[in-house]
Amino acid sequence: MTTNGTTSTVHHTEAPASATVKALTPQGFEVLFTIRDTDAAQLFARLQSLAGYLEKSGYTPPAARGGKPKGPPPMQAPADGSAPMCPTHQKPMKASQYGGWYCSHKDDAGYCSQKAK
Ligand SMILES: [Zn+2]
Repeated sequence: MTTNGTTSTVHHTEAPASATVKALTPQGFEVLFTIRDTDAAQLFARLQSLAGYLEKSGYTPPAARGGKPKGPPPMQAPADGSAPMCPTHQKPMKASQYGGWYCSHKDDAGYCSQKAK
């Protein structure tokens, strides 16, 4: 059995059209979707349906988040162990004995309900 030059006609190792979609999951994780197609128009159609699906699933475009390139979610303690800031009062939170953080600020409505993990 020889492969006498008439092997296969696979030439699609490199798709001529590709697009990468960056999206944030509802939890805030950043995900990259890369779609490839041999035809630009077809690729665009798939891109549109992917975008629609992502939107329906609660994904958001990274640029839609207030234009801030970076910025951790407000209710997340800094990784270095320092106290997170209360987004309402702009004061450092206190470590809770149950783990996590809470804001000890009190106003007319009672204690601040802001908490962080
Ligand atoms: Zn507070």
